[in-house]
Amino acid sequence: MALIRCPECDKEISDSAKVCPNCGHTFAEKKPANPYSKSKLLSAFIINIIAFVLPIVMVITGKYIDTYKKATEPSPSSDTIVLISIHPEVSEKGIIIAAIIGCVIFVTGIVIFFIKSGKIKMVLSICYLAMAIINLVIFFISTCFFVVSTCFLGIVIYVPGILQICAGAKYISGAKNYEN
Ligand SMILES: [Zn+2]
Repeated sequence: MALIRCPECDKEISDSAKVCPNCGHTFAEKKPANPYSKSKLLSAFIINIIAFVLPIVMVITGKYIDTYKKATEPSPSSDTIVLISIHPEVSEKGIIIAAIIGCVIFVTGIVIFFIKSGKIKMVLSICYLAMAIINLVIFFISTCFFVVSTCFLGIVIYVPGILQICAGAKYISGAKNYEN
């Protein structure tokens, strides 16, 4: 048993008291943190990290494959190593914008998980999902010709964006039932 301060009269009372003996302030039954929303928030948090790490892995792998290709079959132009820069079907500007928004989304996801206020959690979760959808559209527009040119094998590049949308939906449903 510990002593806490009554939020009404500021006198020290037992933390097990349901009613303050000084001012009669009634304490709402302490709701245990909803485990359902906690697990949703946690899975959203994990998906958020995967969605951030995956494109980095993809770019590194892409670079590796391109370097390997160049080593085995030398091409006349040697100054393009990055995966995207060797494909003229890709809008580089769009990729850069999508990458920046992607980073903002990732940071938002981290903040959502650690912030205490349920209200801010909810607002940020909605922002997260909205940004994720907009970003996937931007990314799709800048790369759809590239994906077609790879006989749709390149469709994997949309996986991180789709993961972020999943994480956004999970964040929202987690935030909905979140108790401070
Ligand atoms: Zn009191």
